[in-house]
Amino acid sequence: MTTVTRFAPSPTGDLHLGHAYAAWYAQDVANRGGGRFLVRVEDIDATRCRTAFIDRNLDDLRWLGLTWKEPVLRQSERMDLYRDALGRLDDLGITYPCFCTRAEIRSEVEAAAGAPHVMAPDGGFLYPGTCRARNAAERRILVASGRPYAVRLDMGRVIQRTGGLGWTDRMRGPQSASPERFGDVVIARKEVETSYHLAVVVDDAAQGITEVTRGTDLFDATHVHRALYALLDLPVPIWHHHNLCHDEDGSRLSKRQGDETIASLRERGHPKEEVLAMAAAAALRPERQSDADEKIPRND
Ligand code: GLU
Repeated sequence: MTTVTRFAPSPTGDLHLGHAYAAWYAQDVANRGGGRFLVRVEDIDATRCRTAFIDRNLDDLRWLGLTWKEPVLRQSERMDLYRDALGRLDDLGITYPCFCTRAEIRSEVEAAAGAPHVMAPDGGFLYPGTCRARNAAERRILVASGRPYAVRLDMGRVIQRTGGLGWTDRMRGPQSASPERFGDVVIARKEVETSYHLAVVVDDAAQGITEVTRGTDLFDATHVHRALYALLDLPVPIWHHHNLCHDEDGSRLSKRQGDETIASLRERGHPKEEVLAMAAAAALRPERQSDADEKIPRND
């Protein structure tokens, strides 16, 4: 099987050394397998993504010497595919509309304080299940009233359907999938009709990605993705969750803006070989604990 990898930046700003490392890593895996390397723009979040950054990001990648097979897909142009996938999940009877606001979820979770598990692995609240309990008539009335709603997976039903699943991480070896740690995860947001989890799985499968390479910050999300592959009956890739980049203090480079962007390093006259070497060195530095503990919610 030909190896196919991808680098999938979200155009929310200029690329930094962490992106350079991730892109180089993905291309390296493709090259070693004599395969193809693709680039995909993950721009479903209209509030955070800017078109201007797409050109700047691609220009930085070219400057770094990366070459990819065209076309560069843009997720914002692929909403029909995500809608189809969502329809298939709905047909399986494993989704439900959720009308709760963040504030409502927070206050419900806080009211139940002392419950043993209230946080998902990505740092978000575990959904307390309020809207799961609604009956069909109630849902129809709420939808008809125009109340915005997200779509959640009913994780209990998902697991009943999929049974135990495994997946493989090239670094950490065989894993048994535990999507239940995320609870009833959002697979379509109120404002976009998809989510990171759904779009990334649909696209990785549609593009024939055989090895999904990305940072360790997304390791836990793969439990949810593995379940989506099973539910949508898609061919399952291998994952590589590689190191994130850190500065000398051990803080994540992605958190700091300014002098670490590829653009500013270019402007200051650093050659691309040096920038790639800086990225590789930054990926070898250990993370300080406070950063390691910090999570970036991805479940909505
Ligand atoms: N677009 C995601 C990011 O920029 C990457 C998602 C992935 O590689 O699965 O963090």
